[in-house]
Amino acid sequence: MGEVQCRVCQRIIPYPERYLAIDEADGVEVGKGETVRYCIECAIKKGYARYKEMKGEMVLTFFQEPDVSKD
Ligand SMILES: [Zn+2]
Repeated sequence: MGEVQCRVCQRIIPYPERYLAIDEADGVEVGKGETVRYCIECAIKKGYARYKEMKGEMVLTFFQEPDVSKD
């Protein structure tokens, strides 16, 4: 129960580790659909997350809605 598995690499993601959960259908992010979970590494590979340098530290940022905010 409550075990989180990465869809791409099939790795079980241990509790303290962060992961990304999005609703996806046919590989496209949608409001309704199957909830897909990615480990950080695979989320980065898919372009859903990236490391950004802030104040000299690498901070992980997620893109839940790519191409929405363009400030
Ligand atoms: Zn993975």
